[in-house]
Amino acid sequence: MRIKKWIMDLPEYIPGSTLEEIKKTYGLEHVYKLASNENLWGPAPEVKQALNEAIENVCYYPDANGTNLRNKLSETLGVSPDHIIIGNGTDQIIEMVCDCLIGEGDNIVIADPTFLIYEKATLKCGGTVKKIPLKDYRQDIENMVKQVDQNTSIIFFTTPHNPTGTNITKKEFEYILSNIDKHVLVVIDEAYCEYVDQKDSIFALDRIRDFPNLLILRTFSKIYGLAGLRTGYGIAAPVIINALNKIRLPFNVNALGQIGACAALDHARHIQQVREKVSCEKEKFYTALKKHGIACIPSFANFLLINTGKHSPQIAEDLLKAGFIVRPGRNLGMDGFIRITISLPAVNDKFLEKFLQIYKTYY
Ligand code: PMP
Repeated sequence: MRIKKWIMDLPEYIPGSTLEEIKKTYGLEHVYKLASNENLWGPAPEVKQALNEAIENVCYYPDANGTNLRNKLSETLGVSPDHIIIGNGTDQIIEMVCDCLIGEGDNIVIADPTFLIYEKATLKCGGTVKKIPLKDYRQDIENMVKQVDQNTSIIFFTTPHNPTGTNITKKEFEYILSNIDKHVLVVIDEAYCEYVDQKDSIFALDRIRDFPNLLILRTFSKIYGLAGLRTGYGIAAPVIINALNKIRLPFNVNALGQIGACAALDHARHIQQVREKVSCEKEKFYTALKKHGIACIPSFANFLLINTGKHSPQIAEDLLKAGFIVRPGRNLGMDGFIRITISLPAVNDKFLEKFLQIYKTYY
């Protein structure tokens, strides 16, 4: 068989252990997954109810066009449905965007480190990647914009940024829009935007009509608590959405994903409550870490990079043995840190107690 060379050259994919495997390996009763920034409160009860009812109809294919969800998003966001595409997670939209825009000789500009999928989806299309190091844990906007050349197809930004949790300011966003050539697609990945206070929002959506080269990505995986249903969406000018639709697989978003997302949009109060709780819990982390002289990067999202120094990998390993799955910074391009998801109050308390105990054995 002629498997493509670049795929053969990629390192083997090693899936992470399941919660059950970790429990068994370390003889644990409880394991807490704080590694993927999910909303541990989950969706509103009404969303679960809608999903339960939807089970009755799983023998049918889903609506291939996501009509109800796109209409509901259209009402919520104030843009027409032809500005909206839904995907099997935003991951899939990123992949489709690269499929549409990137070929041999093209490049993308991204921050380093950033969310992994931009690079992966680009390499798959034969493109190359220009990586611009973060500056003070933030995307170096000016430098990123400067790296755009004639062969640049896409420049990707995230706000809040993953893995640091830092933001892009309104001024930086306007700088991006006024300095990027119209031949380049500007992607603003807002996977965690619902965690951001109004006063810090860049209101990217308001600029969609003026910038036909702007694509905003959002997801139901984060604050909406529906990561398991893999539903995300993109907002852009119809010319971009039409192109994406041409290559989209017909039933790319499953029926439960569409129904769960619609119900979640109907219960926005829940989202506000989660935002408030996460904000409260984050303060708890800041206070506890400060008290013990441990630095962290203030975060606009529901995760936190904690500065755990040269013993970070061992600290992550010790936390795992104690039942807390966290992301070692080394795996995210942030050596010397661990990244944790802000969880439920009781879990956060348990985590902080264990973490401080482990930390003190090293420093
Ligand atoms: N963008 C960013 C910045 C993310 O952190 C993630 C998830 N980790 C995604 C996109 C993908 O989200 P989804 O579950 O919608 O594919």
